[in-house]
Amino acid sequence: PRHAQRRTILELPDELISQIAAGEVVERPASVVRELVDNALDAGAHHVTVRLLAGGVRLIAVEDDGQGIPRNELPVALKRHATSKIRSLDELESVGTMGFRGEALAAIASVAELSLLSRTPPGDSADAEHAWLLNARTGELSPAPRGVGTSVEVRELFYATPARRKFLKTDATELAHCVEAVRRHALARPDVGFAIWHEGKLVEQWRAAPPGASPEDSMAQRLGDVLGREFLDNSLPVAWRSSSDHPHPIRVWGRVGLPDFARARADQQFAYVNGRFVRDKVVSHAARAAFEDVLHGQRQPVYALFMEIDPRRVDVNVHPTKIEVRFRDSREVHQAVRHAVEDTLAASRAGQPVAATP
Ligand code: ADP
Ligand code: MG
Repeated sequence: PRHAQRRTILELPDELISQIAAGEVVERPASVVRELVDNALDAGAHHVTVRLLAGGVRLIAVEDDGQGIPRNELPVALKRHATSKIRSLDELESVGTMGFRGEALAAIASVAELSLLSRTPPGDSADAEHAWLLNARTGELSPAPRGVGTSVEVRELFYATPARRKFLKTDATELAHCVEAVRRHALARPDVGFAIWHEGKLVEQWRAAPPGASPEDSMAQRLGDVLGREFLDNSLPVAWRSSSDHPHPIRVWGRVGLPDFARARADQQFAYVNGRFVRDKVVSHAARAAFEDVLHGQRQPVYALFMEIDPRRVDVNVHPTKIEVRFRDSREVHQAVRHAVEDTLAASRAGQPVAATP
């Protein structure tokens, strides 16, 4: 048999390594939006503004009022595997931030034009007297005006990888995905205000809960704003925790739509693990199972469920986008979600006052 001509093993150039890695993280404009909003929230932002042009293909700008990046760290932020969020394997295993892989900015910068404009709080250092602008392509760093916080601008996504660009759908579809990405964050963070602009028009705005509002009130308000007043009127609060002698306590809270409010499609199912939006079969199966006796045919329940679980019992580092997680014991998660939803539905059927959301 003839063998193909052997080629020498070579290390790939840095740029190509980044572009290959970017393939996993940046699929479409919404992936960029998700990563940049993750970063804004990790920076402690109270308000996040997303501006888009052409469904995000021409421009994605995310502005926050978080803690900013000091001048000398701006170039480091763009490097692969550079992060301020973890330092060790131990910290990885108990990570509480959205990010930790230190990949997103490097990946995005390898497939688009990226600039970082940031200012740290006064007193942080002499450099904080104004903001600094870093152009990722040229490496040029220059002073610029801005309040405390960070603006990331991403232009001409996939300009250098036309094959990728061809996979993009219409601007309207890409915009819808971008809005969905922000919606997922917004549901989990009623304490943060969000605004989305497209082509200079305000598309969505979700105001931050007033300071001092109870977590239940803030969450109810945000769920109503994001999922619609109708959802609020046709749903029940979930407030469940495993018994106190359970070795690995789990808490499940949020809201589930009444059986009559179920939909033909499973497009209004929001599940969060320790504040992170996840797509997880264990969770969706458990929720569906809880509705088994009251939902007929293929109808899909509507819910926003938040699970709090010991971070050491869930691995968030299984997928570059972190939308998938792996539970140490998926049975205990399944049971928790199922019981939480079943108990809520049963209590409402029995006419009992439903437990208030904690
Ligand atoms: P990761 O979020 O996994 O750390 P990123 O590539 O998304 O990796 O970001 C790299 C680093 O840049 C972050 O660890 C953080 O220190 C900094 N950074 C990025 N975006 C922001 C922001 N909006 N505000 C403050 N710091 C930021
Ligand atoms: Mg990040």
